[in-house]
Amino acid sequence: MRERAEVILKAPAAEDSAQLRLSFSGKMQETTTWRRTVRVLLVEDDPILGNGVEAGLRQAGFVVDWVRDGRSAQLALETTPYELVVLDLGLPRVSGMELLRWLRARGEDLPVLILTARDTVPDRIGGLEAGADDYLIKPFDLGELVARVRALHRRAHGRSVDAIRYRDLVVVPDSLSVTRGAETIGLSRRECSLLIHLLEHQGTAISRARLEENLYGWNEEVESNAVEVHIHNLRRKLGADLIRTIRGVGYLVPREAA
Ligand code: CA
Repeated sequence: MRERAEVILKAPAAEDSAQLRLSFSGKMQETTTWRRTVRVLLVEDDPILGNGVEAGLRQAGFVVDWVRDGRSAQLALETTPYELVVLDLGLPRVSGMELLRWLRARGEDLPVLILTARDTVPDRIGGLEAGADDYLIKPFDLGELVARVRALHRRAHGRSVDAIRYRDLVVVPDSLSVTRGAETIGLSRRECSLLIHLLEHQGTAISRARLEENLYGWNEEVESNAVEVHIHNLRRKLGADLIRTIRGVGYLVPREAA
């Protein structure tokens, strides 16, 4: 499926009056490989935004319960086991921030991603200090929301044990993303494999041919410059100094200083 539709929305509520841009991309359907049901609580009072997020998460394979105010969210959380919460901060009855504090005060450690139109630094810091695991500022891309929800879910369910840390980067194999502090950087499957391979062989130059063997199956056709393209993309996303080119030999990630 390669359909792509874009919706430009105006939110009615004053606090969320920023123009919301939801982008639906065919890509979101590709990587739904979970066998198990993952139930997400979506707390959002804006009907248009809520509809879009609900549809996007469902399309990505999540089971979504959508409530429109903080009190209903508390009720839902008291009665239903969720694996993740997507939480708007500006909500009627009980605010998102209050809800977050209430949740953490109960000792609940389920991952929470906050959505907020308030992109000021104190609000973001406040959210993270109150126990949010990640945040997205409106307007946001729906594809990014789905990717972050996936990454949060994976981080919370054991894969984090296998994380590879290098400088300020954390790579979780198969998560298709790298985190740097609160920032999540999306990678393609092959970019992720290539990066992990280089990180596992720190200080050793690896030839292009070896990297190609590692990245592609026997029957796959490989463009002659495929590895260079992936390296270029990794440098663009993660910084030019991460991967060095050793002329006539290959590529290497310097050994991390002890
Ligand atoms: Ca709101």
